[in-house]
Order: sequence, then structure tokens, then C-alpha cells
Amino acid sequence: MSIQEPDQNCVSSGDRGGFFIPSDTERDWAGEETGERVGIQQKRLRGALDGLFRAVRCESESVRPEHISTLVEIIVRNFRKKETSVSWAHGDQDGGRKDGEVTGELDCPGCSLFIAEPVTVACGHSYCRSCLEQAFLSKCKKCQEELGEKHLLRANVVLCGLLEKWFPEEIHKTKRVAEVKELLRSKHFSPALSLATQLLDSDPSNIRLRVCRSEAYRCLQHYHHALEDLDMCVSVAPSVEVVFCKAKLLKEMGRVDESVKLCLQCLCVDQEFQEARQEVENILCDLLVPTCESVQTLEECSEPSGLIRAQSLRAHMVGGVRGEGLKRVSSAPQLGDKGALLKRKLSGLEVGPEVVETSDTKHKKHGVISAASACSDEDNLHLSVPRDLLDPSDFECSLCMRLFYEPVTTPCGHSFCKSCLQRSLDHSPQCPLCKESLRLYLASRRFSVTRVLDDIIKSYLCEEHAGRQKIHNDETKELSDLENNVPIFVCTMAYPTVPCPLHVFEPRYRLMIRRCIETGTRQFGMCISDAHKGFADFGCMLHIRNVHFLPDGRSVVDTFGGKRFHVITRSMRDGYYIANIEYLQDQRVEGKEELQLQDLYDQVYNHASVWFHSLENRFRNQILQHFGPMPEKEMDIQSSPNGPACCWWLLAVLPVDPRYQLSVLSMTTLRERLVKIQHILAYLQNTQHERNTHAQ
Ligand SMILES: [Zn+2]
Ligand SMILES: [Zn+2]
Ligand SMILES: [Zn+2]
Ligand SMILES: [Zn+2]
Repeated sequence: MSIQEPDQNCVSSGDRGGFFIPSDTERDWAGEETGERVGIQQKRLRGALDGLFRAVRCESESVRPEHISTLVEIIVRNFRKKETSVSWAHGDQDGGRKDGEVTGELDCPGCSLFIAEPVTVACGHSYCRSCLEQAFLSKCKKCQEELGEKHLLRANVVLCGLLEKWFPEEIHKTKRVAEVKELLRSKHFSPALSLATQLLDSDPSNIRLRVCRSEAYRCLQHYHHALEDLDMCVSVAPSVEVVFCKAKLLKEMGRVDESVKLCLQCLCVDQEFQEARQEVENILCDLLVPTCESVQTLEECSEPSGLIRAQSLRAHMVGGVRGEGLKRVSSAPQLGDKGALLKRKLSGLEVGPEVVETSDTKHKKHGVISAASACSDEDNLHLSVPRDLLDPSDFECSLCMRLFYEPVTTPCGHSFCKSCLQRSLDHSPQCPLCKESLRLYLASRRFSVTRVLDDIIKSYLCEEHAGRQKIHNDETKELSDLENNVPIFVCTMAYPTVPCPLHVFEPRYRLMIRRCIETGTRQFGMCISDAHKGFADFGCMLHIRNVHFLPDGRSVVDTFGGKRFHVITRSMRDGYYIANIEYLQDQRVEGKEELQLQDLYDQVYNHASVWFHSLENRFRNQILQHFGPMPEKEMDIQSSPNGPACCWWLLAVLPVDPRYQLSVLSMTTLRERLVKIQHILAYLQNTQHERNTHAQ
């Protein structure tokens, strides 16, 4: 037997999948998986084992947890197939909740308990501050989004106020738990333990408190008490975090196999749980090739089972019969009785919901059972909004003084309607309430709706919300009207079909562009200014193709021209002009007139083409860059109510006074327009000719 023949020794068909993998997954590999995927898995497993064995054999190369990562990945994959049998999960998976029951609006996605000191993160979900402080929580558990700079976030002010009003007792309890945590943080374990015990006497169902007490016990090395507390928490309110706490505790107690199992369960529920993955890798690494330190650590443990395993394995790995050891690694029996037990327990995972039960059966003493029954009261775990204390005025936006519509929460913890906050940020990148800088928040352009607030409003303030929704819909409808009160951007000449890039920085136009996008019209009118009337009598609609936002809220808006219009009446809305307009279109001609028109068009087109190609390269390139190439000659010149595109392109690129351009824009006969353009071209040709003769 040698490493060079891994096929026979390590992952031969009989042995494959034996390592830590429940026996019936073999069937899955052969049956559910396609042949190809089995091949890939085998190859990867073989590769992983090869690497590992090489490292074990070669003295110069030490085995590191990374060597085991592929193994762990494959093990977890197999575990995950049975994921449905894991009864506990993250809060979003409604573990243990009855169907249709409206609970959990106020639950933290992190710990699945009532949110203590709620902090709203960028995706709009709200967590307990203490949950966010946990290093391993790097992604939102509800939407998998990166949590980013979570330590910079402040508590959600509106939500804190509501919780304090609705659940003063719970808030009081939360504060006491914080005291215990503070004692733990400052390493005052004994005082932490006595305070936690004292508080638990009157509040035995407080899961957070119990987790804290377990931590105190653990630090004081009262492992069995620590385990009792965690077991109870796991049985009443199982979550990945609590189970992982238990896994770490078990490892510290030397019950390594149970610890691995729990970590794998955590990974079943949460693939992204890196700490659990690392823990499995570390443990396996220690088992396979213990370093001196890890052997020592294990020797110090109260329960030596891990040590025995590690040493016996090591004897095979490091001792003379290396090949023998390798085979055993691949087929696992070297884990001894405990290994078999582990294997059995792992298989037990698939059977039923009692997956995390191993140690509480051993320690059902000291009143744990009675406390557990006190805990099992669902009401204590999931608080519902008390309808009698619900007051719509608690959900009022401080900017519009109306019920929140699409409430968003800033990093400083203040909540506003999304559109209200955006309008405020158009003027200054600060929180309207506390003046804290919101530059980063603005640059992220997220404005995620704060789910808790939105959910409560929608489910408990139905009538008020319906009223607010109606106002919003009416406003949207009014803003979407493309004939009455159409938004007017007063800036430059725009023409049908011609692109018009705009740099939008004025607050009023930022609002206007945002509204055009939100309402879905993606259109606004463009007019040049007029000293007497504010803006000219004629203009052109612009369609928004794309908006590129700059970090400070300014934007570069890519538009192109649509219909031409005539202004009937003018007024203002929120700082920008609006107008009632009527659209213009060319009068159609037929018969002889049509033939003449076609003739004129051909002349003008050819003339323009000669002019464009006679331009100096740099001018021509500038035009190409800004307005694109000269439009192709069209077959049916009357197909569009705006006539052929080349007229508008020429009008945009020819060096003419805007007032002249405006008069051409307003014409509703193609003939007139072509004649005007012909004049301009003739004029340009003459001046060029004069310049040329002058130069001679
Ligand atoms: Zn939490
Ligand atoms: Zn989220
Ligand atoms: Zn508002
Ligand atoms: Zn603020």
C-alpha cells in the first residue's frame, strides 16, 4: 500500500464516502448524483486526500486546516442534503412557529428573539445591537447582504421608542442582561454568574440571560453547569449561534466528536458560517495530525476521549505503518467507539427533529426541566405588537408630518419616508434631525426600506396605510401626466432623436429627474430660458436612457429627444417649472407637393453631406463625439410626425443662434424646415468660400 496508488487505498469504490459520511449517503452519490458529478466529487476528494497525505508524510510540510477544507466541504455538502431534518434554523426560517401565526415582527434575525436595542442595517433589516457585535455575523441572515461597517450604526430611534413604550418590562430585562454582559466583558466572572443567577430566579425563561450565565460558568470552568444552561437554550430557542456556543463548549470539555457534529449542523443551516467551518477544520486537523500544543490541550481536558482518539490516530499516522493509517483515515473506524458513535449520531440527524439532544439527557437535573417548561411558552419568545398601545402618530415622518411611506433609517438611527429623506439630501448631505453627515449613506444609494416599521404599519395600521398609499398613488398619477403639469428642465435646446447629455446638480432638478424615474415616465420637457416668461414657448421632450449617479447625489443623465411641444400655461412645482403643453407634428403633404418635398430633401441632404465631409477633422470628430454620425438618408420622409432625423441632427450641429434654432423647432411643415437649413448651409458655404478667396 502506498500513497502513489490512492485509487486502491483511499477512495476505492468500497471505501469512498466512509469518512464521517453517513452510510446511506453512498446511495445518494450513486443514485441522485449524475455519474459526472460523482466523478468530480471523487476527484476532488482524492485530490484533497492526496494533498493531505503528502503533507502528513513529508516532514518539511506541516498539515494545516486548509488541507482539510475540501474534505469539510464535501462532508457539509452531504449533510446539507438532509437539511430539511434540522428543525432549528435562523429566524427567517420560522423554526418551530405555527403556520399563519403573526409573530416575529419584532424578532431579531440574528438570535430569533425579541430585538433588544434595535439597529437597522443597510439592507433594511433590524438586529439587536449585541447580535451585530458578534464578529461572525458578517452577512444579513435574511438577505445575505454584507453588513459592512455595522459598528458605526446607531440604534433605530423610532423603534427603540416604540419598544420602550410597548414592552417596558422586556426593555428593563434587556438592560439587566447588558449588565451581565458588561461584567463578562470586564472578566468579572463570579459577579456575572451571581447576577445572572439572581436574575434568572425571577425570569427563568430569559434565553439571553441563560446564554450569558453559561458563558460565566464556562469561564469559571464549571463546564457541566454551562452545558446545562446551553442545552436548555438549545431545546427552547435553538439558533445557529446558541448551537455553536454549545459546540465550542463541548470542544473545550474535550467532547470533540459532539462538537464537530454540532458545527456541521450549524453549517447545514448556514453555509456561510465561517467560524463553524473553521472549527471543523481545526478539529479534524488536530485529530489527524495533532500538534504538540493540541495534544497538550486535549490532555488537560476533563474528558480524555478526544485525546485517546487523537493519539491513536497519530500513532498510525506518524508511526511506522503509514499506509495503514491512511486507509483508516479514509474509512474512519480508527475513531474507535466514539467514532462509531459519532457516525451513528450523524446518521441520526436525518431521522427527526431531536437533533440537538445528546447531552441534555445526561444532565436533566437541577430543575432544568422545570425551567425549560417555563421557557417553552412561545409568548415569552416572540412578542407581538400590542394593538391597544398602537398610535399612528408614533409612525409619523418628521419631514412631511404624515404616516411613514416607505420608511428608511439612516446610519444615525433616524427614520423618514424615503422620498422625504431624498429630497432633504438633494440640498445637503446631512441628517435632517441630528445633522450628522450622511455622505456615505447617500453615496451608497441604497435607501432600503426599514422592514420592521413597514411591516408594522402595513399589518396593524391598515386603514392609515391605505389612506397614505392613496395620497402617494394620486401624487404619482399627477406626476406621470405628460400633458398637464409636465416637468420642464430649463437649460438648452433639444431636438427629436438627438442625444442630450445633462449634468444634474441643482436640488430642484435632482428631485425632478428622480420623480421622472420613479413614476416610470422617464420623460421631461426641455426648453431654453426666456427673460420674460421664464422659459420659451416651444420645447422638446427628453427621454431618460440612463442615469449615472455621482457619490454626492449629482448625476449625469443620458437623454435623447422625443416629441416637440408648444407651451400653453406655465407654473411651478417644488421649485421647478411645469407646463401644460400640446404636442406638435408636421403637416403631411401629398401628390405633386410630396414629390417637390422629396426633391428638396435630396438636395439638402446631399448639400449637408458635402458640408460635413469638408469639415476639418477635429470639428468633425467633435460633432461625432457629441451628436453621433449624420443620420442615414430616409426613404419615407413623412413617416415620423417630426420628419427625417437628419434635419434635427443638422440643426443641433450647425453653428446657429438658439433663437433661430427655436424658430425652426416650432415649424410644423418639413418644407419650411428644409428651406431654413438650406439657407444656413448656403450661408456657411459662402463664408467658407470668402475665407478661402481671402486667404488666396
Ligand atoms: Zn438578536
Ligand atoms: Zn437584510
Ligand atoms: Zn415623510
Ligand atoms: Zn440623524
